[in-house]
Amino acid sequence: MDYQIIIGLEIHVQLETESKMFSWSGTDFGLPPNTQTDPVSLGLPGTLPVMNRRAFELALKTAVALGARIAPFTKWDRKNYYYPDLPKNYQISQYDMPFSKGGALEIPVRKGAGGGGVCGLTRIHLEEDTGKLTHGEGGFSEVDLNRAGIPLLEIVTEPEIRDPADARACLEELRLVLRYLEVSDCEMQEGSLRCDANVNLHIQKDGETIATPIVEIKNLNSFRSVEKALNHEVERQYAQWLEDGKTIADAPKTTRGWDDVLEVTKPQREKETAADYRYFPEPDLVPVEVDEAWLARVRASIGELPSVRRRRFETDYGLSPYDANVLVEQGQDVAGYFDAVAAATGEYKLASNWIQQDVLRTVKEKKLSIADFPVGPAPLAELINRVKRGELNTNQGREILAKMIETGDSQESIIAAGGYRMESDRDAIAAVVAQAVAANPQAIEELAKGKKKPEAVKGFLRGQVMKLTGGKANPALVGELLEAELERLGS
Ligand code: MN
Repeated sequence: MDYQIIIGLEIHVQLETESKMFSWSGTDFGLPPNTQTDPVSLGLPGTLPVMNRRAFELALKTAVALGARIAPFTKWDRKNYYYPDLPKNYQISQYDMPFSKGGALEIPVRKGAGGGGVCGLTRIHLEEDTGKLTHGEGGFSEVDLNRAGIPLLEIVTEPEIRDPADARACLEELRLVLRYLEVSDCEMQEGSLRCDANVNLHIQKDGETIATPIVEIKNLNSFRSVEKALNHEVERQYAQWLEDGKTIADAPKTTRGWDDVLEVTKPQREKETAADYRYFPEPDLVPVEVDEAWLARVRASIGELPSVRRRRFETDYGLSPYDANVLVEQGQDVAGYFDAVAAATGEYKLASNWIQQDVLRTVKEKKLSIADFPVGPAPLAELINRVKRGELNTNQGREILAKMIETGDSQESIIAAGGYRMESDRDAIAAVVAQAVAANPQAIEELAKGKKKPEAVKGFLRGQVMKLTGGKANPALVGELLEAELERLGS
């Protein structure tokens, strides 16, 4: 390849507060238009904003968790522009003194090849959201100000992402971190997580590096569209460069919108520069000073982050990076569920298997959250312990779990009613093994003549034994006694 892809992300996150950034009305999603407003968020003259302390604390929590430097003194600025969804004609934001600079996001290794590494952050600042315009039929548009004034965290990454798939992984990991921190629900469909992507190419030609103009892509409504739009834009910029050559290098930064249906980016407006916004300090709000004591309280409120939890699952529990990631990326409820089962059984790999295969499958099929899953970690751990103690075999355990999920009954009553018990009597199993072997002379012949793979034939015979015992036999004993019987016949 003769070019390098340069990607930086600008992410807006709605913070989960009960009231708005600078006023008292609520922040619920989906209410009838303009029912969640107040004089401040309507921009009425003579009103004054008051900072939401909770929002500032959630912002601090996020920045501290991401390893950012917190400014001891931060102020608010007005970003001036006219738009119908912005009744004050300015947005209260942070310009030259954001509350947080630096920090980084650890990106887990992706399934398949690649991934991993760290994405540096440029800055994080707090601001207020705008309202929402709906462009209706008949040539008019409607304004809904329910969203105006909701606390918004803007997170800007360094332009050091080199691959559209990494950009997606970065955004997915950020969502996971924000959910672990419980600072946002990060629902992309509801607009509480929004991403703009800046992308250009550094093309190598005759020992020179030519940069294509930076394009900011808007309207990215899903993780999939982030990756797709960036891939499209890389191809488009490269093709454009082949056509125009060097002349395009001086063109200004532009904004393009992603069309999810046509899967192309389309030109929007020329990007405003900071000077167009006429930023100046917000005179209606006092600056915020953050001292060590406040930071210490925030630090103490941060639980275990996804990257730390993955490492703990790998090192303390011996899980593979893949298994650790599957459990962690479902959210902290699932990871906590696993932690509880692992602790109560001491069987980490087994606990991980049962949760991934039985619990998560059911949760997905029935569209449940793990909190609503009918079998808690304690009864699941007890069931795994029964298998571990040899009272049940794995298949019986799975069957019982399925019945527990289905009926909500306790495992004790299901075991009693179903006569579940693992048969571990050597003599009894040896007799059944002899019976199964005698009943299948063709299998023994296949084995002797080497017509089929020995493992396939033995597997068939083990299956016959399990069938004859009603699925109750101890599988390890069945295997052992079958080998003995075959050896006896062979000699
Ligand atoms: Mn912004």
